[in-house]
Amino acid sequence: MTVEQNQTTERGSERIVLRIPTDFTAEEFARLCRVKPGSSAFEEIEDALPLIRQYASPKAIIKWANVDRVADDETTIEGVTFHSKVVADKLRDTPRVFLSVVTAGDGLERCGEFEGDPFLNTYDGALLFHASMYVVNYMKEKFGFDGSSSLNPGSLPDWPIDNNFALFDMIGNVDEIGVTLNEAGYIKPWNSGSHIHFSGDGYQNCSLCRKYSCVGRRARFNRAEYIRIFGTEP
Ligand code: SF4
Repeated sequence: MTVEQNQTTERGSERIVLRIPTDFTAEEFARLCRVKPGSSAFEEIEDALPLIRQYASPKAIIKWANVDRVADDETTIEGVTFHSKVVADKLRDTPRVFLSVVTAGDGLERCGEFEGDPFLNTYDGALLFHASMYVVNYMKEKFGFDGSSSLNPGSLPDWPIDNNFALFDMIGNVDEIGVTLNEAGYIKPWNSGSHIHFSGDGYQNCSLCRKYSCVGRRARFNRAEYIRIFGTEP
C-alpha cells in the first residue's frame, strides 16, 4: 500500500511524499530488469526477491508549481528563473507543471546482503524505473495530469546539472526521502532523478541529445527539432 503524506510548503502549493510499494512478483520484477523468464538471470531474481521486497525503499516527492512567465530562453516558475532554450520551448503554453524527485532509495545497499552482487545496479535501475512510472500514473489517476513528458537538469548541455539546486529548493526538504545533491549538483543516491513534468507532446530528452551511440536511447535524434529550438546545426 502506498503511504502518502500531503504537506503544505511555504509557497502554499501541495507537496506530496510517496513511499512506493515493492510487492512485485518475480515475473513483474524480471520485466522491470528486462530479464526473460526461464533464464539464469531470472533464477537470480527469484532468489533475491524476498530481500528486495523487504529492503527496497523507492520514494518520491511531487509538488505542483505555476509557470509565471516564459520569454525568449527564460522560464520563471514560482519566482525562480531558469535559462534554457528547451525548457522555454516546452513550457511556453503550460500554466502548471509538477516538480518531482524520485529515487530507488539506498535500501538494498544498506541491508548488506547485496554487497558485491553484480546485479545490484540492475535491481536499483529497475526500482527507479518502477518508481518513475508509479509517479506518472499517480499524477494521472489523482489529478488527471499527463506528466509523461519531462525535463531533467543535466540531461542536455542547454540545461546543466547545477539547475538541480534551484529545483530542489523549490520542492523543499528533499532529504526527507534520503536524497541529496553533491557540490556539483549531482543527485545521491545515484539511481534517482529530478524532473519538471508537463502535459504535452511526449517529449523525450533523447530526441535532442547528440550522444548518438548511447545504449540507453529511448527516442530517435530529431535534427529538425534540434535546429528549430537551438537555432544551429547539431
Ligand atoms: S540519448 Fe542517452 S545520454 Fe542522451 S538523453 Fe537519452 S539516455 Fe540520456
